[in-house]
Amino acid sequence: MTTLTHLECARCGARVDSSKPQNLCVCGGPLLARYDLNMVRESWNRDWIPNGPSSMWRYAPVLPVSRPGSIVSLGEGMTPLVHAGWLGRHVWIKDEAVNPTGSFKARGLSCAISMCLELGIRKVAIPSTGNAASAMAAYAAAAGLEAHAFLPRDVSQASYLECKAFGAEVTLVDGLVTECSRLVAERAPAEGWFDLGALNEPYRVEGKKTMGYEVAEQFRWELPDAIVYPAGGGAGLIGMWKAFEEMERIGWIRANKPKMIAVQAEGCQPVVRAFEQGREECEFWPDAFTIASGLRVPKPRGGFLILDVLRNSGGEALAVSDQELLDAGLELASKQGILAAPEGAACVAGLRKLFEGGRLDRDSKVVIFNTSAGLKHLEAYATRFPRSAASEQDKLGGLITPR
Ligand SMILES: *Cc1c(COP(=O)(O)O)cnc(C)c1O
Repeated sequence: MTTLTHLECARCGARVDSSKPQNLCVCGGPLLARYDLNMVRESWNRDWIPNGPSSMWRYAPVLPVSRPGSIVSLGEGMTPLVHAGWLGRHVWIKDEAVNPTGSFKARGLSCAISMCLELGIRKVAIPSTGNAASAMAAYAAAAGLEAHAFLPRDVSQASYLECKAFGAEVTLVDGLVTECSRLVAERAPAEGWFDLGALNEPYRVEGKKTMGYEVAEQFRWELPDAIVYPAGGGAGLIGMWKAFEEMERIGWIRANKPKMIAVQAEGCQPVVRAFEQGREECEFWPDAFTIASGLRVPKPRGGFLILDVLRNSGGEALAVSDQELLDAGLELASKQGILAAPEGAACVAGLRKLFEGGRLDRDSKVVIFNTSAGLKHLEAYATRFPRSAASEQDKLGGLITPR
């Protein structure tokens, strides 16, 4: 099973005990899981991976769970890599829409909730823009844990309904996810909730890093030249880079790793601004707004880690407007039959800009991430296809009125 040895603070380097529940380091920095990678190198062969489960748990030796019975799985991971030749000869879409609860947040929460079960945690809470909360609610339901979701009041209907259906207690907040985080932090100690906020505990990143292992496995251990990712809290970028570093140490991949490229929305681009200004930390983005709700994170907790990944990989950060991302989403839908989340659509728009501006060679092998299903974000696309609300409502009413 696991080769987990301890946790390490990403800010001050402190070594922290992984046998107990942990949130942040005493210095306030996020904690990352560390493994005995020499043992992995000596005792595990990458050719054995296909014999494992058809889920992200096939990478169990580099995931933190020590007892197989603690694993809470709904079949997350092993998502398709779809070739998108109309975007570029070597462009691929990693389609995370097919995950449980329709988004890649399932990976992180499958891992984090499994660790809650292993460590004896009974009550969990999460501040979320929507998808992380619905994933938490699903896995908490499967694990029999009490779950509390804190969401901005304008959260998508789909994520709201999922949270309710899965039996979580839902609090709608007048404010952004930062305000939700503040409320969870304030109430968690007295209520006995474990705070599952992004980078507020070590294990969601571990689940998300499996995207990196999967891309490597699916490309037969030859990584792409670039990865284009819609960054909100940035856990996926941080996780994938961690996966690449681990695989390099295990000896599964060569040293040339992909350029990591973060796409954000013009209305909320703290990472892009900090990257361009050469800063080490992101500053709070005031009055954040974008239709891509997963990107509406005005101050990512792991901002310094995201910036490190972009710079160490030779990558970059760029922003697209809501109009550009909706256009790109509809082009992707009509050309390829994939209705991506607005965040995934932002990657399509971003890649176009990179190619057109000569910032990325058109022959590069590129993976872009569609992080969630368009069906979970109907409100965004409905702005392009408004219907006469009254008449549609009448029709629907006519259909369901009992005789
Ligand atoms: C959460 C989310 C993101 C941002 O992911 P991070 O790893 O937190 O940067 C992107 N897209 C969607 C659909 C999301 O739900």
